[in-house]
Amino acid sequence: MLVRKIPDGTVIDHVPAGKALSVLRLLGDPQENGFTIAMVMNVNSSKMNRKDIVKVEGMEVSPEQVQRLALIAPRASVNIVRSYRVVAKKNAVPPRTLRGVLNCTAPTCVSVREKESAPSIFFLSGRSPLRYRCKYCGRELAEKEISSQLG
Ligand SMILES: [Zn+2]
Repeated sequence: MLVRKIPDGTVIDHVPAGKALSVLRLLGDPQENGFTIAMVMNVNSSKMNRKDIVKVEGMEVSPEQVQRLALIAPRASVNIVRSYRVVAKKNAVPPRTLRGVLNCTAPTCVSVREKESAPSIFFLSGRSPLRYRCKYCGRELAEKEISSQLG
């Protein structure tokens, strides 16, 4: 499948199939701020079974956005394009610690019962597949749970 090359902006490849819209939401819905976007959904991939590709013209994603991207697309690669050339290639790296991002799924966890005194803190416990462990009760969230919590 051929997709028009973009002159400047960001190309996010190897997004899990079906997650392109979540990626856009994570980037703050650039299309609503006047940026042109292109999505390629559910294409064959040699690295994954099926993938989405997201292109945002005229916008370069920040390192913070690349980190957060790792939570819904842990194997994503991010290409920054200037004048039709890839000038930087970044891999999404999941943050070691997440504060106030995920919700523990253990009903008895102190972060669920006493949100104010025990705000949610998760530590990275696996990268492929992605896993995070609750600081308080040790409950692990699997990749599917993480991405569903994030939209
Ligand atoms: Zn917990």
